[in-house]
Amino acid sequence: MDWQRVIAHLDMDAFFASVEVADDPALAGKPVIIGANPRGVVSAASYEARKFGVHSAMPVMRARKLCPHGVFLPGRHHRYSEVSHVIFGLLRNLVPVVEQTSVDEAYLDLTGTRRLLGAPEEAALMLKARIREATGLTGSVGLAPVKFVAKIASDFHKPDGLTVVRPGEVAAFLAPLPLGKIPGVGPKTRDYLAKLGVRTIAEALARGREFLLEHLGDTSGEWLWERVNGQDDRPVQPGGDQKSMGAENTFERDTRDPRELARWLAVQAERVGRELRAEGFFGRTVTLKYTYADFSKHTRSRTLDEPTHSTEDILAAATALLAGISLERELRLIGISVSNLDRVGPQPKLLPDPAAERRDKLDAALDAISGKFGKTAVRRGRTLGGKD
Ligand SMILES: [Mg+2]
Repeated sequence: MDWQRVIAHLDMDAFFASVEVADDPALAGKPVIIGANPRGVVSAASYEARKFGVHSAMPVMRARKLCPHGVFLPGRHHRYSEVSHVIFGLLRNLVPVVEQTSVDEAYLDLTGTRRLLGAPEEAALMLKARIREATGLTGSVGLAPVKFVAKIASDFHKPDGLTVVRPGEVAAFLAPLPLGKIPGVGPKTRDYLAKLGVRTIAEALARGREFLLEHLGDTSGEWLWERVNGQDDRPVQPGGDQKSMGAENTFERDTRDPRELARWLAVQAERVGRELRAEGFFGRTVTLKYTYADFSKHTRSRTLDEPTHSTEDILAAATALLAGISLERELRLIGISVSNLDRVGPQPKLLPDPAAERRDKLDAALDAISGKFGKTAVRRGRTLGGKD
């Protein structure tokens, strides 16, 4: 079978920890753990640390018990994003379509790049080598005809791996894998299906489409049926150069009235949410910007668990940030911006989420009406009220 689409998924190996080792060769070969706050969690662990059972998202206290002689570092996120820029600058120079999905992960569309970059395997090896030359770091690559298989494959032989799943090999590659390996299948769904005796992709295939629809509902059942059949028609979408979207207002009269500020935030969240949806972006970081009457400028940010473009999510984050700032002095400006933008939304929910569906419908309905009647035609109930 011939490649119709060729998609590479690149995932840097133990990225934060590897950057620390590259910057300080004395750390080479040591168990390096990013996460030094005893009440925090581990954000990365070198492969040496993983041998002791340390992994990311584990409480730092537990990691210290498992690996008492580990090198615990606080993390230098500014530096990681610098290195990330080097990697992505290089990738974007070489590959026409690059979709960055996180600080150290990307999908690359290698369809039709044979003359430019050579055969897919050669292209992947060349890119790995270039990244290593430029940064001293290794990454692992999965090559497959569809996105989710490429992503699973990049995790197959870490670190410094290259796993190729040719079109004719997809079914055999997937069959023995546990369902939880499919990106988007969370522990809840995995455990639910396991109780019904379905643990692997092959077992789900054997039960058939009707079984999945019956137990997961139409949307999720259909989605999982496609995945277990190796289908995923999502294109590789180049992430925009756009860094953030925002809205702000300078008040006619300085204020410290929380209700008035909350009302402005609601208007701004609506505006930013609509712009994100119109441009097809999702964002993960919500920033509240505020300037006091003495012109001193401040920002507070919150990074969400999942990317969003929902007005309600943006407003909730901004409102929580507002609650944390001092209103002892008056403000002259307030604003919201959303950054960490991506074309990729949250992982599909396998179990129906009626609240999220209602929220998306409301956003879509308001977008449609405001498109027809202008931006101020409609505001949701919460925006109204108070003194105007
Ligand atoms: Mg990684």
